[in-house]
Amino acid sequence: MSQSLLQQVQHLRQQLEQYSYQYYVLDNPTVPDAEYDQLYRQLQQLESEHPELITADSPTQRVGAVPLSKFGQISHSIPMLSLDNAFDDVEFQAFCKRMADRLDTSSEFSFCCEPKLDGLAVSIRYENGLLVQAATRGDGFTGEDITGNVKTIRAVPLKLKGSAIPPVLEVRGEVFMPLAGFASMNEKARAAGEKVFANPRNAAAGSLRQLDPKVSAQRPLMFYAYAVGSVEDPLSLLDGHSHYQRLMQLKDWGLPVCPEIRLVKGATAALDYYQQILQRRADLAYEIDGVVIKVADLAQQQALGFVARAPRWAIAFKFPAQEMLTTLLDVEFQV
Ligand code: NAD
Repeated sequence: MSQSLLQQVQHLRQQLEQYSYQYYVLDNPTVPDAEYDQLYRQLQQLESEHPELITADSPTQRVGAVPLSKFGQISHSIPMLSLDNAFDDVEFQAFCKRMADRLDTSSEFSFCCEPKLDGLAVSIRYENGLLVQAATRGDGFTGEDITGNVKTIRAVPLKLKGSAIPPVLEVRGEVFMPLAGFASMNEKARAAGEKVFANPRNAAAGSLRQLDPKVSAQRPLMFYAYAVGSVEDPLSLLDGHSHYQRLMQLKDWGLPVCPEIRLVKGATAALDYYQQILQRRADLAYEIDGVVIKVADLAQQQALGFVARAPRWAIAFKFPAQEMLTTLLDVEFQV
């Protein structure tokens, strides 16, 4: 292996680590996501050509960032992972082919198609239907205790409703700031001569990761559930369901689920969904940066399993970049 190749890999890792720290820990990114994604891709490419260079602490092997110590810490019994990305139809088709090969099937997959909400992932734990704990994703294994802050989000039920609620249920989803709330919050801040947030994602992260939940309570945060974490229930209604049915069950128990989610059959229908959501992107009440396409069948999900930092059964199909560097540089940030 050449010295310059090693240096290139090390340099990329250093850059990505620095950007990740700014983004995840300080909620204060210094480069647009598209630039981060491009460097990340370069590193992934070099590592796939030279697997001997992969290290356990490479950004390609890790999720998020270590949780801030000013918060209490919560360990996730089931890790909260990231998602692999596809940036065009060819990459999406390659994702489908990898799964078909692995499962040795020629049948079309059923896909649960969901908008990729641009906020931050949280896990909310209900015991006997009552909200008892909420955590950020953190590094995927340990997150920050943000229970008090999540309880201030009006859309998040403090108590689930309906029947057959599991004694322990972890719900995973995205906390985000709808565009209208983001605009009026920044308008007020500007009028008061205070700092404004760069974008809704930053605003959501900065608002949620506050030591004082009273500050979070004043921020227009919203939550959509998109997955189930650990469940302790011998006779769970969630057993044997498809991912889509699980989300509908969460909805019945009173959790907000994105109304744009669709169950479709086959890769072509999933690509249509991507196009439809892309066309309607500007009309949605919240910011999204792509769609997430998940194999709906839970048995297939289980058979496909996980790689280092992401499930093999889901992909984030990203929209073309629209964020400009000037957007990031022209405003000051508030945490
Ligand atoms: P990701 O955001 O690409 O995908 C995983 C996340 O998607 C999940 O954790 C969850 O929060 C979210 N998500 C939204 N809707 C979802 C749905 N319906 N189902 C499942 N998950 C859903 O991955 P990541 O590891 O969180 O971060 C990578 C992203 O962060 C990239 O877009 C990257 O550009 C950005 N980033 C930017 C910088 C920067 O400096 N600008 C630094 C680090 C990371």
